[in-house]
Formats: sequence, C-alpha cells, structure tokens
Amino acid sequence: MVELDGASRVYPGGVAALRGVALRIAYGELVGIVGPSGSGKSTMLHLMGTLDRPSGGVVRVDGYNVAELSDREVSALRAARIGFVFQQFHLAAGVSVLDNVADGLLYAGVPVRQRRQRAAVALERVGLAHRLDHLPQELSGGERQRVAIARAVVGGPALLLADEPTGNLDTATGVAVMALLRELAAAGTTVVIITHDRDIAAGLPRRVEMRDGRIVTDAEVPVR
Ligand code: ADP
Repeated sequence: MVELDGASRVYPGGVAALRGVALRIAYGELVGIVGPSGSGKSTMLHLMGTLDRPSGGVVRVDGYNVAELSDREVSALRAARIGFVFQQFHLAAGVSVLDNVADGLLYAGVPVRQRRQRAAVALERVGLAHRLDHLPQELSGGERQRVAIARAVVGGPALLLADEPTGNLDTATGVAVMALLRELAAAGTTVVIITHDRDIAAGLPRRVEMRDGRIVTDAEVPVR
C-alpha cells in the first residue's frame, strides 16, 4: 500500500524533518507510528497521504511513484484511495453531520443524492445513524471524531491515515475510537495511526518508532 525508499523531507529554512526513511506497509496492515514530538511523524504521514512530496528518495502509494504523477493525478489518487483523520476533527461548523460526511465525496464527483446516501451508510457504520441532522457543535468529542472517521471512509479508501485521533478524547472515548479503527482494519482498510498514547500503541500489531527524522525501531509485537 505504501512504500518509502530513502524518503527525506527538508523544509524551507533547512529543517531536515525526515532523513532517508525506508518503510513498507502492506495492504490491510494496522500500524502505529510513535516517537517524541518533532521526530517527523506528521511529516511522514503527510508524505504517505500525498499531501506533501519528498525532498529526496521515493514515495509509492498504491504502486504509484508520487513524484511521477501530475498534481491532478495526485489529487485523484488521494480522493479515490486515501482518507484522513486528525486530532482536531476538522468538521465544518453549521453543516449537518450528514453533509459533513457527504462532502467527503465532493472530489470523487459523486452526485449529491448519492453522496448523502453513502454518508448515511458510513454514519451508520460508526454508530451515528441517530445523529444525521445534528450539527457538530451539538455532539460530544467522541461523536465528532466518529463523524470525522465516517467522512474519511465514506469513499471506501484503501488507506486511512490518522494523526493523533484520540489526542482530544478522554480515555474511554479514545478506546472506543480505536475499536472503530481496528474494525476498519479488520475489514481490509490499511490503517496508519500516529499516537502518543502508550496503551494505544501497545495494542497495535506493528509499531514504528521515530526519532530525529529516522525510524529507530519497527516491531511487530504480540497484542496485549
Ligand atoms: P512530529 O509529528 O513527530 O511531532 P513533525 O513531522 O511535525 O514531527 O516535525 C518534524 C520537524 O520538522 C520538527 O522539527 C518541526 O518543527 C519541523 N516542521 C514540521 N513542519 C514544518 C514546516 N511546515 N515548516 C518547517 N518546519 C517544519
């Protein structure tokens, strides 16, 4: 699903955020990315998500070398194959839960009726069928994150990238959100999760640990 080969990223100003990383993630894997703040986790996730391009080395997503694609092709790849979940949820205020999720299909060129139908199915999948007409600000943090996950998966992505998805949630709610991500992985979606939470990381079948822009361990560990 994802292959990084000597991937580096130097930001303007000279910060080497990623220093020649090699990583392969197979279709259907569930992987945690851990490491201290500033170690390059988000930078790596952005490269995997084609939100950014490497300064050196190769990034392949779904078999495509991202450097060989036009901006338009990269956008199409992202819209068709990749979903994102962030710590801050990033839902549109004043827009119903249903339309927040339906808008996840805007760039896939799906007509509005179908967008809403598929959004309703995705929201049912995350246990929010009873909240379609609510506004995000009427929901709890856990519910908002489930809406964000529904939006990320409504297009049926092969790859789901989550940057600290439980960072703004209490422990119990975080556990529920993790259970949902785990279900998606079990159903075949490749899921990559950045987490600071040791307990969450310990529960993931593979952990990639970063430090100073490099991978320092990549361990497949028995799940506790
Ligand atoms: P992490 O996700 O592990 O906290 P990041 O990938 O966000 O790490 O950052 C790695 C390094 O790159 C840090 O030193 C950070 O300050 C720097 N960095 C991240 N994004 C940018 C940017 N857009 N411009 C300049 N430096 C950045």
